[in-house]
Amino acid sequence: MTDFVALSCPSCRGKLKIADDINQFACGYCGNEFIVNRGENTISLAPVVDSINQVKQGVDRIAIELQIQRLQRERLELANYIKAKQSSFDYWYTSQSGLFGVIRCLFSSKKQQDKAELTELYALARQKREEQERLTALLSQ
Ligand SMILES: [Zn+2]
Repeated sequence: MTDFVALSCPSCRGKLKIADDINQFACGYCGNEFIVNRGENTISLAPVVDSINQVKQGVDRIAIELQIQRLQRERLELANYIKAKQSSFDYWYTSQSGLFGVIRCLFSSKKQQDKAELTELYALARQKREEQERLTALLSQ
C-alpha cells in the first residue's frame, strides 16, 4: 500500500496528501506545480518555477560572462586607439614652437577638435570600465 505525507501547499496553504512515489505534482487547489524533495527524515516542496529560474540564471550568467569578455576586448582596442591619438596630439602640440607656434596652438580648430574627441574617448573608456565593473559585481553576487 502507498503511504501518504500530509503537507500544506506552500502557495495556498491547502491541505495536500503526497504519495510516497510522487516526485512532482500540481496543487489541487491553486494549480501551482511543485517538486518533492525528500531528505532522510524530511520532505519539502520546491516550486517548479524556482527550478526554471535557476536554469535561467545559469544562462544569464553565461550571457554576462560573454558581455564582460566583449567589453574587455573593446576596452583594449579603445585604449590602443586613445594611446595613438593622444601621442599624436601631444606630438603635434609640442612640435609647435615659437610665438607663432603658440598662437597656432591657441587658435587651432584642429587642436580643439582633437581635444574634444580625446575627452569623448576617455569618457567612453570610463563608461565601458564602469559597465564591466557592474557586470563583474553582478556575477559575484
Ligand atoms: Zn495550492
